[in-house]
Amino acid sequence: MTTEEARGVGAGASTVFVGFGSNLGDSRAIVQNALERLASTPQISSLQSSSFYVTAPVGFSTNQPAYLNGVVRFRTNLPPHDLLDRLQQIELELGRERKTFWGARTIDLDLLLYDAAVINDSRLIVPHPRMHWRLFVLDPMLELAPDVVIPTLRLTIRETRELLLWNQRFHSQFVRALNVCNAATVT
Ligand code: AMP
Repeated sequence: MTTEEARGVGAGASTVFVGFGSNLGDSRAIVQNALERLASTPQISSLQSSSFYVTAPVGFSTNQPAYLNGVVRFRTNLPPHDLLDRLQQIELELGRERKTFWGARTIDLDLLLYDAAVINDSRLIVPHPRMHWRLFVLDPMLELAPDVVIPTLRLTIRETRELLLWNQRFHSQFVRALNVCNAATVT
């Protein structure tokens, strides 16, 4: 019996990527704890983690502590919605309260990719709908799987990250040019 079979992960298992983030409490210990719970789940095997990244908060609520982010890859026979149940169970076990959409959180676990599946229903969207514009997802994904394709974009992780960086550079140059124009108009 292989190690995968011993863990209930047999033929037909899927390769999955899950993003994690924490910015409340002892984030490093909380993330380690979440990853241990994930790795010891029956029907999950071969879990590998990226490095941990310290990132500034984004969105509408930037006045909160920095995040610890990263991505794990593993193999599983759990169907996508059962895996989402397990991720949400771990979030709750580690004390996550759902207060605000963009607010601080003890642990956030996002299902990023499930093989090449495309899912869009009331509970689950895969590929994760914001993964392609988050460097704190694409940087750790680049470490683990630069050539994996995001099926909805038909672009690899490496290509998607390049596009995002290009877009950010273009955007900041555009804003700088607008500021110069505005200053010239005012004076
Ligand atoms: P969040 O507050 O970012 O953890 O969002 C959690 C909500 O997003 C839950 O209601 C999930 O059902 C939903 N959701 C939709 N797609 C995903 C996904 N790919 N990964 C995690 N949660 C998802």
